[in-house]
Amino acid sequence: MNVSVDGNRFGPAVVETRGLRKTYFGKIDTPVLHGIDIEIRLGEFVAIMGQSGSGKSTLLNILGALDVPTGGRVLIDGVDIATLSENGLAELRNRVVGFVFQFHYLLDELTCLENVLVPIMVRSGDVSAAERERAIRLLERVGLGKQIDKHPDAMSGGENQRCAIIRALANQPKVVLADEPTGNLDSRSGDAVFKMMRELNRESAVAFIMVTHDERLAQEADRILMIEDGLIHEVNKHEQRQRMLDALNDANP
Ligand code: ADP
Ligand code: MG
Repeated sequence: MNVSVDGNRFGPAVVETRGLRKTYFGKIDTPVLHGIDIEIRLGEFVAIMGQSGSGKSTLLNILGALDVPTGGRVLIDGVDIATLSENGLAELRNRVVGFVFQFHYLLDELTCLENVLVPIMVRSGDVSAAERERAIRLLERVGLGKQIDKHPDAMSGGENQRCAIIRALANQPKVVLADEPTGNLDSRSGDAVFKMMRELNRESAVAFIMVTHDERLAQEADRILMIEDGLIHEVNKHEQRQRMLDALNDANP
C-alpha cells in the first residue's frame, strides 16, 4: 500500500492506521469505515477522494486525533492514540497536526496575522519575536504580505483560505489535514490555494492529506486514495484520469 513513485523522497510514517473501523452509534448505528490501512509519510502529498458520505471527513478527523476509532489502531507520529488521555490527544494534535477546512474559520475580530498566531498562543501561552517573524514570512510567502493587518471580512475567500493554511502551519506540524480546502472557492482561487499548499509541501517535509472532489487537483498529488464502501484503495492516477475523460465523453457525446 505504501508505494509511491519515488519512495525515497519521503520520510518516516507520520500517520498510520491498521484495520481502522468507525461506527457512529445512535438510535441507528452508522458503520462508516470497515478496516482502513494506510501509511502516510513525511513529505508526501496525498489526495483522498470518494463520494459524499463515504467517510472522508470521518477518516481525516481520526487521523488528526479529533475523533477516535471504534476499532483498529491509529498511530500519529508513532504514538498509538489509544494510549493517550484527552490531554495527551490535545497535546499531540497541537504538536503534530494542522487543520484546514472547507470554511476558513478565521476569527473576524482578529487580523490575519493574529489569526495565524492563535495556535501558538494556545500551545505555549505566548508568541516569541521569532515565531511572529516566521508567521509574517510565511504570509508574505503566500502573497499576503499586504494583508497581515486586515480582518477576514476585508479579504477575499482565497486570501482567507491562504491565511488559514498558514495558521495550520503555525506550530510547525508534521502533517496538514485539509478537508475540501478549495471546495468553497471558485476554480481560479481554488487552483491558487492548491498550488500554494503543494509548494509549501515541496519546500518542507510537511505531509499534506487533502480531501477533494476535484479530479484535476488530485492528479497533482503524489498519490490518490479512494474511499469506497468503507474501505480505501490506492488509485492508479493514469487509470483515474482515463475514467474521468470517459465520463466527460459520456456526458458530452
Ligand atoms: P464525507 O466527508 O465523505 O462526505 P462523512 O465522514 O462526513 O463523509 O460521513 C460519513 C457518514 O457518517 C455519513 O453517512 C454521515 O451521515 C455519517 N456521520 C458523520 N458524522 C456523524 C456523526 N457525528 N454522527 C452520526 N453519523 C455521522
Ligand atoms: Mg466531508
